[in-house]
Amino acid sequence: MLSKTGIPILAQICSKFPSESVLIHPKAIIECYEEIPCNPCTTSCPTKAITINGNMNHCPEIDFSKCVGCGICVFSCPGLAIMIVEVKDNKAIFKIPYEMLPLPQKGEVWDAINRQGQIIGPALIEKVSHSPVHNKTRLIQVQVDKALLYDFITIKEKTYE
Ligand code: SF4
Ligand code: SF4
Repeated sequence: MLSKTGIPILAQICSKFPSESVLIHPKAIIECYEEIPCNPCTTSCPTKAITINGNMNHCPEIDFSKCVGCGICVFSCPGLAIMIVEVKDNKAIFKIPYEMLPLPQKGEVWDAINRQGQIIGPALIEKVSHSPVHNKTRLIQVQVDKALLYDFITIKEKTYE
């Protein structure tokens, strides 16, 4: 599926997540599935939570016990393959990289979008942050229903009510 469509199957997605008990604290989820010569995620992480063992072409691995959810790696990844995820009560809090315009504003409700590009529910915009270094990439904090934990990937502006 991934090689033909670019869309991972559920088992591949779940393999990148820790258990929900770990997600009571924000953690980086690295959806980097292809072996490519790339490593800014590893070099940018201040706690050395991300490693690429041996060959630089290998996919990165994360030690969730070392990840403090700071989001630096999200800004550093040229493939926009990393997001921060936290579970609180019945909500999933995502911090996603975003490089589109217009930017959402805090308090707005946009559409939550899945990996197939389909609308899957409402996404409350909680915060819009930017990095002084990677100034074209924004970090959008979004709250969605917890049921969308393995489905949500990005947001789209609502074009109608
Ligand atoms: S969120 Fe911060 S601590 Fe966690 S892997 Fe990314 S850079 Fe490292
Ligand atoms: S920086 Fe992004 S694309 Fe590059 S290896 Fe890390 S996760 Fe993959």
